[in-house]
Amino acid sequence: MKRARTIAAIVLGALIGAALPVITVAYFSWLRQQEVEQNNLESAAERTLLRAHRAYEGGLQTLRTLNQTPLSPCSPEHLQLMRNLAVSTRTAEQVGYFERGRLRCTSWGLTDSDIPEPIPDHTTADGAALTFGVRPQAGDGSPMLAVQLGKHDLLIDPGRFVDVIADPNVRLAVATPDGRLVAQQALPDQELLSRLLRKPATGHTAHNWYATAQDHEWLAIAVSPRTGFIDSVGRLPWALLPLAVVGALLGALGALWLSRRRQSLRNELATAVRRRELSMQYQPIIELDTGVCVGAESLVRWCRADGTQVKPDLFIPVAEQTGLIDALTDHVIDLVINDMRDLLVRDRSAHIAINLSAGDVGSGRALKVLSAKLQGTGIHPQQIWLEATERGFIDIEGARSSLAAARRAGHCVAIDDFGVGYSSLQYLQTLPLDALKIDKSFIEAIGTHSATSPVTSHIIDMAKTLGLFTVAEGVETSAQLAYLQARQVEFGQGWLFSRPLSSSEFITYHEKRLKQYGKAKENMQNPNSAM
Ligand code: C2E
Ligand code: CA
Ligand code: CA
Repeated sequence: MKRARTIAAIVLGALIGAALPVITVAYFSWLRQQEVEQNNLESAAERTLLRAHRAYEGGLQTLRTLNQTPLSPCSPEHLQLMRNLAVSTRTAEQVGYFERGRLRCTSWGLTDSDIPEPIPDHTTADGAALTFGVRPQAGDGSPMLAVQLGKHDLLIDPGRFVDVIADPNVRLAVATPDGRLVAQQALPDQELLSRLLRKPATGHTAHNWYATAQDHEWLAIAVSPRTGFIDSVGRLPWALLPLAVVGALLGALGALWLSRRRQSLRNELATAVRRRELSMQYQPIIELDTGVCVGAESLVRWCRADGTQVKPDLFIPVAEQTGLIDALTDHVIDLVINDMRDLLVRDRSAHIAINLSAGDVGSGRALKVLSAKLQGTGIHPQQIWLEATERGFIDIEGARSSLAAARRAGHCVAIDDFGVGYSSLQYLQTLPLDALKIDKSFIEAIGTHSATSPVTSHIIDMAKTLGLFTVAEGVETSAQLAYLQARQVEFGQGWLFSRPLSSSEFITYHEKRLKQYGKAKENMQNPNSAM
């Protein structure tokens, strides 16, 4: 089981280690690629605009030359000139001459058919009339753009407007500025095309990049498909493979190191529990309006053989996950009772709070151990408070019945780290609780402008609504104390009053504090006796 878990951790570590560098490189190269694609597209649109311009201007020049010729219309010399210009003008497929609204001759010769002058779709700034989709009799019959100036016209293959060298994924189109399409290379998204014809813009949709360029005569559009992030991972060069392998190795080694460390921590902790090497510290809990020390929270400490201290935040989770927590809790209960028995018997108003782990709360096992240990000690169950975090409420039914049992036995039950979890008011109402410990993160926020700051007040209100008394954790400053007193929070604990103390230090602290503040308390409760 342990072995399977270690292997699973190593595989997971290797996968994460391999994926992380690849995904990071992919992400940045994708971002870069996006930028490059957009720039390419903008330049393609600019070049298309130039191309359209040249194609049109070339044709126009030819038409001007023809209109100025003194040659007799459709004479052999005129036909020859038309032929020569049709061949020498790169964009021209055919040149024609109209008279009284009818085509009289073309660069191919005289026409005998009765072809009328085309009805223009658009007139350019130069006064040329454009007609789209004209199908000449000669040629392969594909639609042409007719440009007519004066009595001559010129047929241009619209493809000439968009034959620009660009990335094969880029699709181009040219239109007149009022949105009439002149030529297009089968744009992938016709809806996008109609949108751009109406309103030229540069940007992207979910699937395509687009860019437009415009002058007074033409509008050029360039569209290319967007590469998704996933695709860009797929397109990464094989050169990244070594990086992935190194990442995988590091990930696997990291996971192995962690699980070894965890294992050795677990083994060491098991030895410490067995050899009873853990000890307890006690952090005083102060009644805020009188200053009297009403008890303490017990905090477990692990001092390793080499003298280093391990923080409970680190080893409690290890104990919970490796099945050591029951033995640890038993050990804690033992230590607390041994350390505090005399004090608790001497001062019946004092209490000690014990932290329960999530498992202890769900199973109710710790309560049985505690009850058995209290037998014959003279300590009243009311003097032992139990602190449970919201993590212990995952098995809500188990938690409800064991907390109820604890209260029946006479203990006071507090919810610890309150506000850190997700408990709703409604949910808390269903749990048998006496007190609420406001997590120190909320106390820290008092008087600051952090986002947490207004929450503190709500939490205090919530406790009052639930009819619970409150203990503020981590009180460090007198400003925090003043706020808590003003909000009538009953108890507080923190460095302002005292750091966690050894058992003997706490006993001394408690007595000293009782002498110092106990009198004041008596006077407060009994105002006449002070006189
Ligand atoms: P917790 O129950 O919230 O305990 C309060 C923690 O806040 C303690 O840390 C305490 O030393 C620290 N603290 C007290 N006053 C101040 C202050 O003014 N400022 C700041 N910054 N910190 C303050 P510690 O002793 O390291 O305990 C950490 C956690 O370990 C505890 O949090 C509790 O969840 C767990 N733990 C401690 N002892 C036990 C135990 O015996 N059993 C179980 N199951 N868990 C324990
Ligand atoms: Ca606690
Ligand atoms: Ca806390």
